[in-house]
Amino acid sequence: MAFVITSPCIDEQAADCLDVCPVDCIEKGEDQYLIDPSICIDCGACETACPVEAIFHEDELQEEEQSFLEKAKKYYHL
Ligand code: SF4
Repeated sequence: MAFVITSPCIDEQAADCLDVCPVDCIEKGEDQYLIDPSICIDCGACETACPVEAIFHEDELQEEEQSFLEKAKKYYHL
């Protein structure tokens, strides 16, 4: 299980999540920041830090944001 960065990040890219992640599993991708689902420890710190509420636990993703989990997996070759 992991947290997922969704569509609001594309327009914001504030990067506040990078500073709070205890395991450094967030990278800047081509058009948004992405969490490595294989490293994320589900602490939720990034969810709280995000100024545009772009980050959700994968179990709480809305239907239209499901593709962002697949996007993260593809980015990290999972
Ligand atoms: Fe990092 Fe915690 Fe966010 Fe996972 S939930 S990406 S470990 S800050």
